[in-house]
Amino acid sequence: VASGDFSLLPPPSSPYTRLVPIYDFHLHSALSGDAELGAVELSWRAISAGYTAFAITDHCAIGTLPRVVRELRADVESARREWGAAILAGVELTHLPPGLIERAARMARDEGAELVICHGETINEPVEPGANLAAIECGLVDVLAHPGLITLHEARRAAERGVYLELTSSRGHGLANGRVAKMARAAGAKLLLNSDNHLFDFLTPERQRRVLLGAGLEEEDLEEILLKNPLALLERVGVTAGAQ
Ligand SMILES: [Zn+2]
Ligand SMILES: [Zn+2]
Repeated sequence: VASGDFSLLPPPSSPYTRLVPIYDFHLHSALSGDAELGAVELSWRAISAGYTAFAITDHCAIGTLPRVVRELRADVESARREWGAAILAGVELTHLPPGLIERAARMARDEGAELVICHGETINEPVEPGANLAAIECGLVDVLAHPGLITLHEARRAAERGVYLELTSSRGHGLANGRVAKMARAAGAKLLLNSDNHLFDFLTPERQRRVLLGAGLEEEDLEEILLKNPLALLERVGVTAGAQ
């Protein structure tokens, strides 16, 4: 896994957001095909929205993966250099047959993807059953995105294998947030909150809080999900939080 040797500089934003770090590990650029902003513009908009660190995770399948990772890495590296921002070039393995998830995740690592997330079994789309477990078990996926009607067994395996489970502010995929939170809590799996932003749907501190409380979580859970877990994930992928 390529490691980003850059520190988390405070973003140029309002005095309020400076005090509240925002982490988001699921953003889409135009390389995804169904999103509109180029990776560099998306990065600047995220920085302008007060983001502290974030990952662009473009949709990939086996055929598109090498090109998408190569182009995204080039844009992300240039944005990082110019702005000193903590941006990861990642992928979202999307709508792959479960039997291909491990192979695609390995390809993503080999191509230099800095974060690998997998499109889970959202209730908002037909996703082939088995995608959740294949992503969890392959040992190469960092985050299982919008896992829908995740089972307790899957959540337990995610806890054991260190796979983060995603809560999302995305309007459709977020319909199962309550169940994902409940299963993660019961299993001891780690949660993140991401936006799945395809345009201008950036997280704000208030939206983060409302989505998490709306998922049935409590105020005392927020720090772990919004701060502690993101920092642990950044550390795992090699980003230092030195200059915060
Ligand atoms: Zn997805
Ligand atoms: Zn997505």
